[in-house]
Amino acid sequence: MIRSIVHKMPIKTIKARQIFDSRGNPTVEVDLTTDNGLFRAAVPSGASTGIYEALELRDNDKTQYMGKSVFTAVNNINSEIGPKVIAKNFDETNQKEIDDFMIQLDGDANKKRLGANAILGVSLAVCKAGAAKKGVPLYQHIADLSGNKKIILPVPAFNVINGGSHAGNKLAMQEFMILPTGASSFTEAMKMGTEVYHNLKNVIKKDFGLDATAVGDEGGFAPNILNNKDALVLIRKAIDLAGYAGKIEIGMDVAASEFFKDGKYDLDFKNPNSDKSKWISSDELGNLYQEFIKENPMVSIEDPFDQDDWDAWTKLTANTQIQIVGDDLTVTNPKRIQTAVEKKACNCLLLKVNQIGSVTESIAAHNLAKANGWGTMVSHRSGETEDSFIGDLVVGLSTGQIKTGAPCRSERLAKYNQILRIEEELGANAVYAGKKFRNPHN
Ligand SMILES: [Mg+2]
Repeated sequence: MIRSIVHKMPIKTIKARQIFDSRGNPTVEVDLTTDNGLFRAAVPSGASTGIYEALELRDNDKTQYMGKSVFTAVNNINSEIGPKVIAKNFDETNQKEIDDFMIQLDGDANKKRLGANAILGVSLAVCKAGAAKKGVPLYQHIADLSGNKKIILPVPAFNVINGGSHAGNKLAMQEFMILPTGASSFTEAMKMGTEVYHNLKNVIKKDFGLDATAVGDEGGFAPNILNNKDALVLIRKAIDLAGYAGKIEIGMDVAASEFFKDGKYDLDFKNPNSDKSKWISSDELGNLYQEFIKENPMVSIEDPFDQDDWDAWTKLTANTQIQIVGDDLTVTNPKRIQTAVEKKACNCLLLKVNQIGSVTESIAAHNLAKANGWGTMVSHRSGETEDSFIGDLVVGLSTGQIKTGAPCRSERLAKYNQILRIEEELGANAVYAGKKFRNPHN
């Protein structure tokens, strides 16, 4: 008798709890059990949150956890999503059916009722359980779900200098990244990335003193420089010292929406008394990027302009060969991606699972970008956990590129280390995207 009941219930239990992310802020964790065991997933959280993102449900009770507790989202899983998903007797390999059910259950386009953090936590746990049911690695299950036939390992984009809202320095632009596109494997890319990182630490120590080597939320250094060009000089110096000139290229995430004020860009936005006469126009900022591109081995710029400064985006994308990435612009949202395609505003999607709120929609967003000739960079959030799901996601989708911080802080390394394990498992079949990171399948 009991056996037949078990057969009818592929997913046996779904239990959520509040845990803490890498910044000490509450987030949602989900434990899902099946006959194959326990599958656990945790939800990441961003600091530079675009206004078009799916809703991260927080309690906003100012008397506790600085208003950031997620007990409502946890309760929505334990009292509603969990019981209803279990009652439907879904097979855990049917990711799309389960995600679609949760989306309909929420009923709001931005997942406002149950919370995108609640739905995503369950969606991620289901995906892990689905892989186990099939007896395949998680990345292979994701490849199957997305229709990807060829597994390719990504180029890591290490965020080695942090500014913007992620760091307590004066630097306005948020991320300065190194991409070891000249490596021959993911393992070698990790070698190059870590060696440059340690050389960069030595350079910063020499130029700014030991206290300037403290790290930001994503593990990058946050020296107190104001001029964004100086950050690029530091990085080039570290690449040279490590002996990898010509093998490592540079990327940036400007997160320009964070310093867009009254139609202008304030590169001194963390100074409350910044000089308004020095704020610059979209064209002036665009010219600055052209200088960056000319002076550096620059291959990728994310969010160069405000999320609604469409014309500036279109102009830059038309006037450069490099990758222009939409993050706050597109927020992993099909409607925003479609608009950006029509306006030719960028040519790469930044894929963040918590911006859209489910595995199925993340896969669809990537496939939409790909169908339009864009690249896709899979991304962590500034508030992360030890969950390494996106390491498997980027390999499963084989998008060719991932950014998940500096090679520092274990919540960042958890993802890179998972890709090292996958490369080891693939053995002679492992293919590294390298120079083809923007379009690895061609
Ligand atoms: Mg960004």
